[in-house]
Amino acid sequence: MTKPTPDRPTTHRTKSRSGESVRLSYQESFICPVCRHGQITGLTLMDAFACNFCRHIFTANLPEQTVQVVDSSQPMAWRWNGQNWTVAYRDELNLTALVWMVGSALVVLPAAIVWLSSHVFPPLPDSNWAWFPTVWVACTFTFHLLLVGWLLVEHYQLPLYVTGKIWIRGLFGQR
Ligand SMILES: [Zn+2]
Repeated sequence: MTKPTPDRPTTHRTKSRSGESVRLSYQESFICPVCRHGQITGLTLMDAFACNFCRHIFTANLPEQTVQVVDSSQPMAWRWNGQNWTVAYRDELNLTALVWMVGSALVVLPAAIVWLSSHVFPPLPDSNWAWFPTVWVACTFTFHLLLVGWLLVEHYQLPLYVTGKIWIRGLFGQR
């Protein structure tokens, strides 16, 4: 949205030489802070970066050396320290606390209810189905644990998870 950059070099340096720190600028490319796999490069005529792998768009604040992802439900920002990204801002702690609270309740409560009911109304000891409550409790617990696990990696946007999601998306050809 500002000045065109005719002097933008055609080749992007992708890695800093060891020990050398590189300022965040639209003329360089940097490892993507979201997927840690692709490279983010400056978008022509815009004060923004885009990743060539996960396609996330970032607005940049060059004086503060920070970028913020703009096309994600998670308002996350990173600060460039010359060689790597550090998380500068992850949404208020409230949401994180809520995710953990709901997550723990989701894992513990259903399994506890199933376990409790199997003890209040136990199967007959010599019944063929005596094993069933135990297996059912285990299934309930595992399933909810998987569900909450997914919720957590989605919340934290773990690099490995984001990369995996993009591979799966690529597998089905909907890039
Ligand atoms: Zn990326």
